Amino acid sequence: MKVGMISEPGKLVLYLELEEDDRPAPTDKYQIGKRIITTIFPEDFDPEDIHPDLLGLSCILICEPFIGTRITLPKPVSKHFYEGHKKVTSRYTIANVDEKLKPRKIDSDYVPGLAFSGGVDSTAALSVMPHNTVPVFLDRPLNGRSMYNKDAAYNSCNEVSRLGYNMNIIQCDLEYARKPVGFPVDVANSVPAILMADYLRLDSIAFGTIMESSYGLGHKNYRDYPNGNHYTHLGGMFESAGIPFNLPVAGISEIGTSIIVEKSPIGFIAQSCMRGIWKSPCQNCWKCFRKLILDAAIEDENMDNDTITRLFNNKEAMRFVSGIPIKHENVLTWATNKLKIDNELFSLLKKRVRGDTHSFPWMNKWFPDSEIVLHEKYGDEIKHNIARYLETMTEEECEYLREWSMEDMINSEQTALDRDNLVSNMKDHIKSHQ
Ligand SMILES: [Zn+2]
Repeated sequence: MKVGMISEPGKLVLYLELEEDDRPAPTDKYQIGKRIITTIFPEDFDPEDIHPDLLGLSCILICEPFIGTRITLPKPVSKHFYEGHKKVTSRYTIANVDEKLKPRKIDSDYVPGLAFSGGVDSTAALSVMPHNTVPVFLDRPLNGRSMYNKDAAYNSCNEVSRLGYNMNIIQCDLEYARKPVGFPVDVANSVPAILMADYLRLDSIAFGTIMESSYGLGHKNYRDYPNGNHYTHLGGMFESAGIPFNLPVAGISEIGTSIIVEKSPIGFIAQSCMRGIWKSPCQNCWKCFRKLILDAAIEDENMDNDTITRLFNNKEAMRFVSGIPIKHENVLTWATNKLKIDNELFSLLKKRVRGDTHSFPWMNKWFPDSEIVLHEKYGDEIKHNIARYLETMTEEECEYLREWSMEDMINSEQTALDRDNLVSNMKDHIKSHQ
């Protein structure tokens, strides 16, 4: 892979050029898409000033899945980044190094950055981070076919700015480098923040990565995240580029981030639905389905029959609940267990996700092992802020998490029966409400 660049003040264009041993279709799920990636910055920002290591890291995040055995970056990187990258990457190497280039320098008065999306998880992250945190929103230019509605995200950003944060909205089309559209590497949503790290004086970059994605909660088995591939490989690259990871909500489940957003003074800006407009979620997608149930459980409110009827009249949710396990099933178990609702569909869902027999009382608490993935400079402040909203798991509760496994449930015939029962009833329900 070769990446070239052309820039002018306020604009950077990257060109991806495939070489013979590259992988234009790394899996049967996706392939390389657009090969010209444009980022628009404030006018007074000259992309020529970007440290080559930050530029190199950004290019890698855009094209890593498609790289064969080596990548040539637009500018040679420092030996420090080259070595650091090599230590955590076995599949390919960086082709161009400048032995004389000094690594990126961070001053003591630099501030924390956050890859901000306007959703619940990144709002929870912002809620527990220092007040001088700089949120950066990657603004994907839309093409005609998308169902994604940016109204809510723009409003969230405007509120964040109004609350006094140095909020940055940066247009970047890197998600089109992949077909179907999406981030080639999950943390590529931080590319605008990385490119602007010196301009914004950032010493680290935070993500709204929650415990489901880090430690594998709600997945088949617990994952020792700090020693796993994601943290060592990607975290290692960020560290050697001089912009280390900071994962303030990695020890918090989706239940916990929803509680934080519920209680925090800035929580009102969060919206999880990508389709509805500001303060008016679509009520028709999988995120809306999960959120309605979870919020009712958090607020200890029961749902009336009209709400339940509307809740289950959701085709996308029907598709998701037919999975085994269901994506973020743990959240549904915790929430349905708390809710006492006399309704057949709700009871079928509750039975399918084991909310009738499992309560998981530790799942709304903070996992203290995750302290290790907080940036050292901000660790104490973040822990202190988390404690304002959530209890900390006891050692016994930590052990429940470390022993997390859904294998028995996944392999049980009863689960498949419960699923079939739920899905066929939901299908009839949707049909009768068309
Ligand atoms: Zn929705």
